[in-house]
Amino acid sequence: MPEIKAPFYGHVRQYRSIKKELDDAILKVLESGAYVMGPALKQFEQDLSKYSGRKYACGLNSGTDALWLAFMALGVKPGDEIITTANTFFATAEAIWIAGAKAVLVDCDPRTRNIDPRKAEAAITKRTKGIVPVHLYGLSADMKAISAIARKKKLWVVEDNAQGIDGHGPGWKQGELSDAVATSFIIQKNLGTFGDGGAVVTDREDIDAYCRKMRNHGSTVRSVHSFGFNSRLDDLHAAILSVKLRHITRWTDRRREIAARYTAGLRGTSFRLPVEPEGYRHVYHVYVIEHPKRDQLEKDMLAAGVDVKTHYPIAIHQQKGFPWGKKAEVKRVPHCVRNAAQCLSLPMFPELTDPEADYTIEQLVAWDKANR
Ligand SMILES: *Cc1c(COP(=O)(O)O)cnc(C)c1O
Repeated sequence: MPEIKAPFYGHVRQYRSIKKELDDAILKVLESGAYVMGPALKQFEQDLSKYSGRKYACGLNSGTDALWLAFMALGVKPGDEIITTANTFFATAEAIWIAGAKAVLVDCDPRTRNIDPRKAEAAITKRTKGIVPVHLYGLSADMKAISAIARKKKLWVVEDNAQGIDGHGPGWKQGELSDAVATSFIIQKNLGTFGDGGAVVTDREDIDAYCRKMRNHGSTVRSVHSFGFNSRLDDLHAAILSVKLRHITRWTDRRREIAARYTAGLRGTSFRLPVEPEGYRHVYHVYVIEHPKRDQLEKDMLAAGVDVKTHYPIAIHQQKGFPWGKKAEVKRVPHCVRNAAQCLSLPMFPELTDPEADYTIEQLVAWDKANR
């Protein structure tokens, strides 16, 4: 294994950068004796709803649970169709499957790589109940267009915001143009705890109430149950997330600084670079370039000590577990298929240093010259 000169993740660096704050918060929970559905969870839910500018936030066990619980709260039944993109993390489609519905995959816009609203509209049938735009790689989807279509066709919208927290579009905030926002707090996300977590953020009381009940065995009063599930966000994680939420804006700003450095340094190369349309705040969950010889590029970068990854090399309908008929989907999502074949994610986290980013740029520029 070559020495890693530019790492992909910086979880421990981040921990060390705010160690005192985190240690204090963790010890406080340990000393309190309240570990499940306690005051730290309540506090984080208040912090998150205030930060989001929405009325409610319900802490859950994962982003996947946040998605399917939101779908169920909106009344999804077996046979319903939900529209999303083929270039997303598998959990988006998986959550649709868990809720008993069918994922209808549409193509992405080749520039933004987010769901193409016209394709979404064209895929609507009598069975369609909702649309799930994913804020892929940290760039918010075109919520104005999506919500206009949804209103016209009487559909709901749930934002998959696992990658896009702290981002927004021109003149709108997340959750403003949708029924609910589903977020993930697994460690590698922009706001991540040391383990798993998720939340549903919404202005709708009914959705929040449903998630609260479902996450705790269908119970809101002790010993009284309707059938539910176990998807609680532990107080330890909630306390950690309250601390980290105080730093999210600064961390996003640093991600954006690194992204600007990459974009300036890679201008004029043959790599396809990420775009940030006017008025958007891209939070660069990952900085993804594209190149037709991605597999070779990936190998060479890893050999040079640049710790790259791929998000996501296999489109949803290409996965073995995709349960809704593969062949029919393949032709309709050419941009997603290209994205899967060509995407490469560069080292990106707030604690990445400028020399590490510059080393990455140097290696990529040299590779581009040699492979033209
Ligand atoms: C991470 C992620 C999820 C799932 O979140 P978990 O907390 O891992 O369950 C869903 N959708 C997208 C786009 C993701 O990146």
